[in-house]
Formats: sequence, C-alpha cells, structure tokens
Amino acid sequence: MAFPAGFEHIVRENEPLAPYTWLQLGGTCRFFAEPTTEDELKGLVLACHRESIPIRVLGGGSNILIRDEGFSGLVLSLTASAFGKIEFQGNILKAGGGAKLSHVVSAAVGEGLAGIEHLVGIPGTLGGALHGNASTLDGDIGQRVQKAQLLTRTGEVVDYNGSQLQFSHHQSSLDELVILYAELKLEKAADPIALCKRMQKLWIVKRSLQPTLGTSTIIPFIDPPGYNAATLIEESGLAGYREGLVQIHSTQPNFLVVSSGATSSQVIALLEKIRSTVAAKKGVELQLHLKIW
Ligand SMILES: Cc1cc2nc3c(=O)[nH]c(=O)nc-3n(C[C@H](O)[C@H](O)[C@H](O)COP(=O)(O)OP(=O)(O)OC[C@H]3O[C@@H](n4cnc5c(N)ncnc54)[C@H](O)[C@@H]3O)c2cc1C
Repeated sequence: MAFPAGFEHIVRENEPLAPYTWLQLGGTCRFFAEPTTEDELKGLVLACHRESIPIRVLGGGSNILIRDEGFSGLVLSLTASAFGKIEFQGNILKAGGGAKLSHVVSAAVGEGLAGIEHLVGIPGTLGGALHGNASTLDGDIGQRVQKAQLLTRTGEVVDYNGSQLQFSHHQSSLDELVILYAELKLEKAADPIALCKRMQKLWIVKRSLQPTLGTSTIIPFIDPPGYNAATLIEESGLAGYREGLVQIHSTQPNFLVVSSGATSSQVIALLEKIRSTVAAKKGVELQLHLKIW
C-alpha cells in the first residue's frame, strides 16, 4: 500500500528506525515523516485517520525499543524547527513538544529560572518528558506544567490547563497523539549563578551514576508503588544475568546494558525473564517504562 497522495515530499517508505533511538536496535517503519509545519502535521494525521493507518510519535527515542520486525504504520518525527521553539514570558517557559529537553533546561537556567534544572542530563524531547512525566529524586516535570496543547488522532488541536492534567510516577494524562506545545511555570532564582552551578553539579552526578560499560544502557522498569525495581531484581538473583548480548547490570540491576550486535528480541526476552522471575520470587508485577513499538 502507498501513502495517500499529496505527501510524497515528506513521507519516506521503509525507513530504518534504529538510528532514531538510543538503543539503535530494531527494524523499519512502513512510512516515516518529518513534517515542517503544524499544517503539514495535521494533514498527515488526517490522511492516516481516513485510511486507518496507525501512527506513532517519536521524540528523542531514548525510551523506545523498536521490535526487530519494525512497525507497519507512520512514524512522525518532530525535529523541524517549527516544533522546537523555546520562549519566555516572565517566569513562564513556552516550548514546542519537539524541543530537546536539554535545550529547555539550559534555556531556563540561562534565563535565571529555577524549577527544572534537576532534569539536566535526561535525554530526549520536551514531548517525551511530558508524556512519561520525566523525573528525578528532586521532582517531576508535571508539577511545572500550566498548559499543554495537543493534537488528537482526528486532527483537532485541544488545549488543557494544568488543573485538567494528571501526572504521576512516570505517567501523564497527556495521551492524545501529539504534544505540540507546553507552558512550564518556573521561579525567578535569587542567585542565577548559583542556579547554573547547581545544574552543572547535578549533570556531573547524573553522569557518574550511569554505568559506562557496553554501548548503551537503559532503565526499563519503573519502581512499583512501595518497592524499588533494582532491589526486586537483585533479590530475585538476576543481577549480572545475560541474554545474548544484553545483560542486567551487576551492581545497578535496574539498568540493562545492551552491547553492539544485540537484537530487540534479546532485549524483549530478557525483559520477560526479569518480569516473570520477579513475579514468581517476589510476588510483584514490574511495569515497563520503556515503550516497545
Ligand atoms: C541514559 C538515560 C538516562 C535517563 N534518565 C532518566 C531520568 O533521570 N528520569 C526519567 O524520567 N527518565 C530518564 N530516562 C528515560 C527517557 O530519557 C525519558 O523517558 C525521556 O523523557 C523520553 O523522551 P524522548 O523524547 O526520548 O521520548 P521517546 O523515547 O521518543 O518516546 C517515549 C514516549 O513518548 C511519546 N512521545 C514523545 N514525544 C511526544 C510528543 N511530542 N507527543 C506525544 N507523545 C510523544 C512517544 O510516542 C513514546 O510513547 C533516561 C533514559 C536514558 C537512555
């Protein structure tokens, strides 16, 4: 099947998805588009809606695993500048869903605005961070959101204010198709230089906590209420366990270390092994943070 006519200039076929993701694994998608304007984006969404073509939205790909067999619909990537603008109005940061989170954080700190500096070092985009309510021990991004604009699967643009949105541990109610834009309410820092130093320090600490062996590492599970996923995995005797070229980190067992040459099937097999072992030995169901496409 070909993509509906009129989009030949932006839709590519059988695009390999691995290069767009942190893990660099997996197959192709049937269609791939990087729209350059909101109208183009809406046009693509409406065409897919009419033709019942499934759509997925790619952010920075830092929390997505593409299956080896790929995805049979359209993948939308919001890398165009139209989706990555960052502006300020007083202590409100306004940014597009495609803006890199690192740019959003450093722009805020550069403006002397505090409240999201602890998110430094989290890869991906603002859209991805909002979708999964990116967080650290110092708080989550959701608590800063005062407005979000979304595009639905039927091509409608809808606005939500902060009180209409819900954020919890790595979850948000932002489950329409595309997060186009958001406003974050920040605070004027009493000492902007100290704020900048704090961000730099947090960045160094974050990097030092991540295992460095292997080509890429991910944290696939969220902590179940009242538990720590790493402790559950360790107490289930799985620290250091390997499936092909994918290994559970021996000292930080909530990290998977994925070596070059691994396949998505090996990652999925190991995730399943962890889930079933922890359920059997500890009686707790681990929930995936990683999205599997
Ligand atoms: C080394 C490393 C460190 C990490 N540290 C942290 C951490 O400290 N805290 C933390 O919370 N997470 C962390 N993560 C996980 C990950 O970086 C976050 O979940 C991140 O916010 C995902 O953003 P992304 O743009 O890469 O999203 P993607 O991986 O591209 O997508 C994730 C999900 O968000 C959806 N999505 C993305 N953009 C949009 C959009 N504009 N509109 C609608 N839906 C969208 C996708 O469809 C998908 O369902 C880490 C990951 C890595 C690899």
